[in-house]
Amino acid sequence: MSGSIASEFAISIHDLRRQPGEMMEINRSFPSPERIGIDIIAIEVNTEISISGKVESVSTGVLASCQVEAIATGECVRCLDRLTLPIHAFIQELFYYSVPLDLEEDEDEPLLISDENIDLLAPIRDGVILDLPLTPHCSEECLGLCPDCGEKVALNPGGHVHQSIDPRWAALGKLEQLDGGSGQEG
Ligand SMILES: [Zn+2]
Ligand SMILES: [Zn+2]
Repeated sequence: MSGSIASEFAISIHDLRRQPGEMMEINRSFPSPERIGIDIIAIEVNTEISISGKVESVSTGVLASCQVEAIATGECVRCLDRLTLPIHAFIQELFYYSVPLDLEEDEDEPLLISDENIDLLAPIRDGVILDLPLTPHCSEECLGLCPDCGEKVALNPGGHVHQSIDPRWAALGKLEQLDGGSGQEG
């Protein structure tokens, strides 16, 4: 993490007293600076993301806890229709005053307070991705697409069936046609 350029989600903690137990509320919304999500569904760039919660002083830094709300758009994995999905992700992240000395080797790089700012973009990104379904679908009942013709199965409520012909019989049928000498060209 460079930490040099603050995102729109950088929260100033200038007014938060550096004393455990002190807290301040955060409530804001911003257009997302980037696409946040996975291939099939995401919060698109410039979609509004709202965060509401609080920032608390703790001994080693500040703890941010907030609810993230936005609308993700994507497509149904079954029928490929466009769909929208409200996101409600909860994030909680500790931002340190300085790199903790007791950090384990395999721990994630700690987030730091930088110029009296905490940047919530990375936690928001992680929280939103965790909240997204890996296989979004337009409804539980979505029947998806017919593997034979690619049409939506639901478009034919009377029963979407195709006459399935065993390929061996189909080949035999062609031979019979040739024997019959009907002269018809395929
Ligand atoms: Zn669907
Ligand atoms: Zn079909």
